[in-house]
Parts: sequence; structure tokens; C-alpha cells
Amino acid sequence: MTKSKTAQRNLRASRELHDRAKRSLPGGNTRTTVFMLPHPIYPERGEGCRLIDVDGNAYIDCINNFTALIHGYGHPAITEAVMRQLPLGTCFGAPTESEIELAELLAARVGSVDQLRFCNSGTEAVMFALKAARAFTGRPKIAKCEGAYHGTYDYAEVSLDSKPDSWGANWPRSVAYARGTPEGVLADVVTIPFNDPVAAAELIRAHGNELAAVLVDPMPNRAGLVPATPAYIQALRESTKATGSLLIFDEVIVFRLGHGGAQPFWNVEADLTTFGKIMGGGFPVGAVGGRKEIMAVFDPSKGKPALPHGGTFSANPVTMRAGIAAMELLDETAFRHLERLGEAVRNGIDHSFRRHGLPGATTGKGSLLKIHFTDRPVRDYRTAMPRPEEAARLDGFFRALLDRGVLIAPNGLFALSTPMGDREVEQILAVCDSAIASLAAAPA
Ligand code: PMP
Repeated sequence: MTKSKTAQRNLRASRELHDRAKRSLPGGNTRTTVFMLPHPIYPERGEGCRLIDVDGNAYIDCINNFTALIHGYGHPAITEAVMRQLPLGTCFGAPTESEIELAELLAARVGSVDQLRFCNSGTEAVMFALKAARAFTGRPKIAKCEGAYHGTYDYAEVSLDSKPDSWGANWPRSVAYARGTPEGVLADVVTIPFNDPVAAAELIRAHGNELAAVLVDPMPNRAGLVPATPAYIQALRESTKATGSLLIFDEVIVFRLGHGGAQPFWNVEADLTTFGKIMGGGFPVGAVGGRKEIMAVFDPSKGKPALPHGGTFSANPVTMRAGIAAMELLDETAFRHLERLGEAVRNGIDHSFRRHGLPGATTGKGSLLKIHFTDRPVRDYRTAMPRPEEAARLDGFFRALLDRGVLIAPNGLFALSTPMGDREVEQILAVCDSAIASLAAAPA
């Protein structure tokens, strides 16, 4: 990568904080996702779609806490909702009206959801969805797509970063992500290929009456951020129905695709849906929702439920109020705006690749996009996996953007926000274009 004009950005205060962090946090880090070498930037504050770090550098934030902040920072309506709640109490050992309001709002938007349970993260939402499916069906196994991220529950992590040497001759194998994962976990997870309807349906039918659920994110970021084909989702829906297992849509990220979430785009109704990120308005959150007869596994009104579910901070009124405000702001006009921003950034970057003759393209939909340094058609985890030279270009691109004041995820993910407008799109595209130009000019 050639030197950018802002390569001299002063990052001293961030570096000093990281040095200090190394004494009390392993690797100076308490969230692997935000680790970077030589050190991350430490935000001092956020303002709309901008983040200002502790050295005073400003960035257009195109990652928005890994897609969670769809309204950027400090939206007045969300701030007001939270400020009104804070003096009244941040959490109680009792339910509040706010949880009913947010549940009603989400159930009204998502056709397949009658009832919900709130929790504190997407990881928890996925864990409770899988446990609910086991409790409902009385079966032990789950199926998930190779390379798809669903948080850090043991079962949901299986085959997250499987490598070519463990790919197996034909179908994906279940391989551990974290060291120490019990063999029993791997035995109870069937790994299916993403976007291969024939193989996925065959595997689901082969495990037939042992399978509690098939967990799918219809546009999995870590597997390339490519939308599932309609045929794939249809194959999952039909084979789960045929085998009596549940279809779980993980909408922790893709709920930001539209007013009714992701399912309308694939013309499908899931049995259970998991939520997180944007629905908490910037506060820790998760939820699982579905049809009343399935959600009955959580119902304690007739004695110990099939699936007991606690959580000290679940449905706390600060999160609920922030979530309600964030959801109310997300009307059809907001989605049209986000769609337009996403289209403009995807098209602009694709144009830069062509203009500079560098292999590359974007994937994604709505306000989400991902950059790939290849012309190879990307359709699943294996085709999306960057080859070494592509990974080096991606790293160079990420760092060039950071140097030039645009923040994205190191894996090339962008998540746009409602406070962005044409001016920000222009700035983002100018920075991306100059980064792509530098990469094209660099020796291969
Ligand atoms: N599911 C998906 C699809 C996700 O992308 C994530 C987080 N990025 C999770 C689940 C886990 O959510 P959380 O980080 O809130 O635990």
C-alpha cells in the first residue's frame, strides 16, 4: 500500500490506551471482533454518522458497531427515550410495560412472529432459539451453514472457520471453532453448505428425525454476504417441514433489510426468528420470536416450563425504550433511504474496481455491503474465502480507509446508517476509489 495523505494521523492517545489495556485485559482486548494490530482506535464520542477518536481524528462510521447502530450516534429521539427512563429506574426485578410495547411492535412487523422473549445479545437469542427447538421437538441435533456466524454458543460456532484441509471430499464436516469444544457438540451439529439446495436438503433429510432445527442467516456476512438464492431457502423450508424440524431465521443482522425484516424478501415464514443489534437502539439486546405454539415452551403459567429462561437484565426498560424509539424511526421512508445509500456505495465501488482494472466486487443488499478482491463468482463460504493475495489487499484497503477517515470492518463489511446522505456517500466513494487506485498501482 502506498502512503496515503493522512498516513501521519496522530494515534498516540489510542496507542497509549492500548498499552495500558494490555495490563488488565488479555491482549489489551475484551472483544475479539474489535482487535487489530498494532492497536485499535479508541473512540472518544460519536456524532450522527461520525466517530471521533481520542486523538481527535474523525471517521465516517460505516460499521456502526457491527451493524447495530442503524441511526448512528446520539439520535435525538433515542437519546430522549433513554433520558426519560434513566431517572425512573434502569432495571427491575419485575416486568415493565416497555417490554409489552416492543414485543407488540415486533410481532406486528414480522408475519411469522406471534410472541417473543427478550434477552441481552444475539448470541443468547440464537442459544434460546436452538434450545426452544430442542424442547419443542424433543430432538438433539441442529443444522447450520458452513462459515456462518451466529454468535458464540458452542453449537452455533461449529464450522465457522473450517479450512480447505477439513472440507472433506463432498459435504462440509463439523469442525470445532474454539479449542475445547466437546466432541458431543460436533456430533450434534450437521454442517450444511450455503446456497446448495440439493446437498442441504439431502443432509437435512438424512438426519431427518434427529434434527430439531435448521439455523440459517439468509445473507451471512462471514460466508460472503451473498443473499441466499430463493431455491435454497425454499429447499430448507420444504425439507424442515418434511422432517418435522424447525426453520430458524437468524435476523440479528438482516432484520435491517426491511420493515418486516428479511423473510418477505425470500417469501418465507420461519418457525423461529432471532433478533438483536438494531432492535435495542444501541443497547445490549436479543430476542427470539415465533409462532405461539412453539413459544409455549417458555410459558411458565402452567408450572415449570419446558424451557426455563432467566436473564437479570433481559427486557430492561432502558433497552426496551431505546429499541422502541429506534424501531419507530425505521419506517418505509427510512428503508428507502438506506436502500438508496447501499445501492450508491455498491455501484460506486464496483465502478472503481473496473476503472482501475483491479479484480474485485461488492456483495450485499439494502444498507449492507461487503467488498471482495476477486472476480470469482462468490456464492458461499468457500468461494468467498479470500486467497492470500486477496486477504492482503483487503487488509490494505481496510487500513487505507482508516487512514483516510472511513471506518469499516476488517473483513470488508459496511453497514450504513440513516444519518448518512449524498455528501457522505460521495466522501466514502472518493476514499474507496483512492484506496483501490493505490492497490491497483502496487506491485502484485
Ligand atoms: N447472529 C448473527 C447473524 C450475528 O451477526 C451476530 C453478531 N454479529 C450474532 C448472532 C451474535 O450477536 P451478539 O454479538 O449480540 O451476541
